[in-house]
Amino acid sequence: MIDLLIRSARIAGSPDSAPVDLQVDRGVILEIGPASSDPVPARTIIEARGALLSAPYVEPHIHLDTALTAGEPRWNVSGTLWEGIACWSERKALLSRKDVIDRAEEILRWQVANGVLFVRSHVDVTDPKLEALDALLEVRDRVKEVVELQIVAFPQEGICSFPDGEKLIEEAAQRGADVVGAIPHFEDTREDGVRSVEIAIDVAVRHGLMVDAHCDEIDDEQSRFIEVLATQALRTGLRERVTASHATAMGSYNAAYSYKLQRLLQRSGINLVCNPLVNLHLQGRFDGYPKRRGLLQAKEMLGAGVNIAFGHDDIMDPWYPLGTGNSIQVALVGAHATQLTAPSEVEECFRMVTDRAAAALCLGERYGIARGRPANFMLLPALSPFDAVRRQVRPSHVVAHGRLVASAPPAATKLDWPGRDTELVDHIRLRDAAGATWRDRGDV
Ligand SMILES: [Zn+2]
Repeated sequence: MIDLLIRSARIAGSPDSAPVDLQVDRGVILEIGPASSDPVPARTIIEARGALLSAPYVEPHIHLDTALTAGEPRWNVSGTLWEGIACWSERKALLSRKDVIDRAEEILRWQVANGVLFVRSHVDVTDPKLEALDALLEVRDRVKEVVELQIVAFPQEGICSFPDGEKLIEEAAQRGADVVGAIPHFEDTREDGVRSVEIAIDVAVRHGLMVDAHCDEIDDEQSRFIEVLATQALRTGLRERVTASHATAMGSYNAAYSYKLQRLLQRSGINLVCNPLVNLHLQGRFDGYPKRRGLLQAKEMLGAGVNIAFGHDDIMDPWYPLGTGNSIQVALVGAHATQLTAPSEVEECFRMVTDRAAAALCLGERYGIARGRPANFMLLPALSPFDAVRRQVRPSHVVAHGRLVASAPPAATKLDWPGRDTELVDHIRLRDAAGATWRDRGDV
C-alpha cells in the first residue's frame, strides 16, 4: 500500500496534456503513468479530475524578519525606500527572537496555503546582536518538513558604510546563513559599493555559499553595480549561484548600455529577481510626469537568455503595506508591469514563480515533477498556467514531502440571473487564450 495516489491530473508544461496518475510513497514520487481506473491500494486518494499538477511555487525574494510590522512605530508616509529604511531602523530596536519567529511563521503559513514550498528570505544583519538572524535560523529548522527556507545575510544599512558591517556579514555566514547579501547602491560612495560586492563574493567563496545582492534598487541611471556583480560571478566561477535582486536602475539605462549589459549578464550566468509589487510601489517617487515604472528590463533580458524570477519582497512592512504571500498574484502583477502578456509570455510569468525561481535558488533535483524526486507539488483547478494566472486560482491541494499540507474547495458564486439560475465557478471558460481546453464540463 502506497501513501498517496493522485488520479487523472495534467502536468503543467508537458507537451501532450494527457492525464496521468502519480504515486507517492515515503515522501518521494514513486511513479508517473497514464491515468487508469485500475485499483491501486493507497492510504489517501485525490481525484484531480483533469486539474493541473505543478511543482510548487518558489518565493525567491522575501523579508520575513520585517513582515507584518507596517505602522510600527510609524507609517512610511512618503512611500520611499529611504523612509522605509528609517522606519525599520526604529522598529529594529524593539526586536525580540519571539517577535521575529511569530511573524515569520505566520507568513510561511500563508505562503504554504498558497502553494509556496520553497522560500528565500533576506534577514537584516546590520544588528550587532544578529537577533533576527538567529530567529530565522531557528525557523528554518522548525518548518523544514513543510517548507525549505534559504536565509540571506542581508546588510540593510551597508557592509562598508555601517559600523562593523564586514564583521557582521562574516559572523552571519559562520552562524549558518545559506546566502550572502549586499546593498551596493546604498553604500556611501561608489567605491564602497564596489568593495561591498567584492566582500560579499569573497565571504560566499570562502564559506561555499550563494550570493543574492539587492543591486541597484534606485531610479538612478548611474547606479551600475550589476556589472560588478556579474563580472565577479563570472571570474570566480560562482555564476548561477549569484542573483541580482531588484536591479530597478535598469529601467533607466540607455539602449547602448542595456545592450552591453545583456551580453555580460548572459555570459555571467547570474539570475535576476524582479519584485513587481514592491518596486511599482516604491520607485518613481522622486519623478514628475512622465513617471518611471522602476523595474528591470524583464522582456529584453529574458530574450537575451538571462534567467529571471518574480519575487514578492515585502508583506505589510515599512516598504509595502499590502500583500498576502501569494505567488500567482505576483505573476499577474508582473505580467502587467513588464508587459509580458502574449499567451506564451503569460506562461513564462508562471515559470518565473515556479521553475525559473527554482533555478535561481539552485534547487536542482530537489524540485520538479519527476520519478524519484521529493513529492512536493500542488493541484491547480486550471486548464493551463495561462488560465491559472488569469483567474488567480488558489491550489486545491498542496503536498509537501508526500503529505497533504493544505486543501481548499473551489470558490463558487451563486447568481440569480434573468431567465436562469447559474453557478459561476472561478470565471472558467472552456477554452483559454493559450489554446488549452477542458475535456468536458465534468473535469471542473
Ligand atoms: Zn528586498
